[in-house]
Amino acid sequence: MNKIGASIDPVRIDGSLTLLEQDLQAYQAIGLQAVELPVHGLDAIFNGTLNPDRTRQVMALLSDFDFCYSIHSPNPVNLMDTRDPGLHKAVLLASLEFARQIHATVVVVHSGRFIPEEEFNVTPARSLTVSEQIRMLENEARRLQEIARQYPDIRIALENARPYLSQSPYTYAERLESLKEQILRIHRDNVKINLDFGHLFMASRFYQFDPVATVAPIKDLVVHTHVHDNFGGVVHHWEKQQTHQLPFGKGDSHMPVGFGKIPIQAILNLLLPDYDGRLIMELRSRYLPDTQTSLDNLSALVAACEAKGNR
Ligand SMILES: [Zn+2]
Repeated sequence: MNKIGASIDPVRIDGSLTLLEQDLQAYQAIGLQAVELPVHGLDAIFNGTLNPDRTRQVMALLSDFDFCYSIHSPNPVNLMDTRDPGLHKAVLLASLEFARQIHATVVVVHSGRFIPEEEFNVTPARSLTVSEQIRMLENEARRLQEIARQYPDIRIALENARPYLSQSPYTYAERLESLKEQILRIHRDNVKINLDFGHLFMASRFYQFDPVATVAPIKDLVVHTHVHDNFGGVVHHWEKQQTHQLPFGKGDSHMPVGFGKIPIQAILNLLLPDYDGRLIMELRSRYLPDTQTSLDNLSALVAACEAKGNR
């Protein structure tokens, strides 16, 4: 049985351990088994360095709970960064050290971006040459190999990305086949894929591919998942406000399971028989009160999948 969990929203808690504790208590009350903690929302890293006092405070708080933990590294971490690659590497290393200290076994990392989202507004959409892209892919691979060697007991899970109108492809990770190629280039037992169902669905709409069939060739590389729902409508990178997007089925909604149109059951049917990782519901803060509903819906899908396997 795969452990079902939920993520802690970094901006919602924004450094408050009181809010973290409240959310953990809420997750415990509904019977979740796993939690994904954002190192950034916990203030566990300052300026590329692990904050030891804060780490101890978090560990003390976690000792009251019995969850399995994964860690989400800070979203802007980009191992393809060209301005200050050492800083990005330091932030990821600090994330892994935090994971080691709290006994988390998975660290989620956003796959490298040729053009990071933070620079979309200042950098007009441009295409890199193939040789520029390959150099960046090789840089990311080399940095990840060095990092992975230092933390052999932690799985580093590279996440597939959502597309953006007028900026895509800004990362290779919008396509699962390219992500697989990069995982094979990195070629380390502890560097695999975090499959984000919502990002996959948006990419399938944007690039016109079958979101279920495309999982088959990469499923053996998936060690972690972010399960949430949306309607697949792709947006510009500045369209962030959910209030305005929802009526149009647009955006990376991170809704509770069952609220959108993602074929979650079909993807689980393909993935779950050989999958030993967790199912982390990565919901937006606005859906915190719906976590129970999402859990019920996801549990029903998993049960249907297991019933199918047992027939
Ligand atoms: Zn995700």
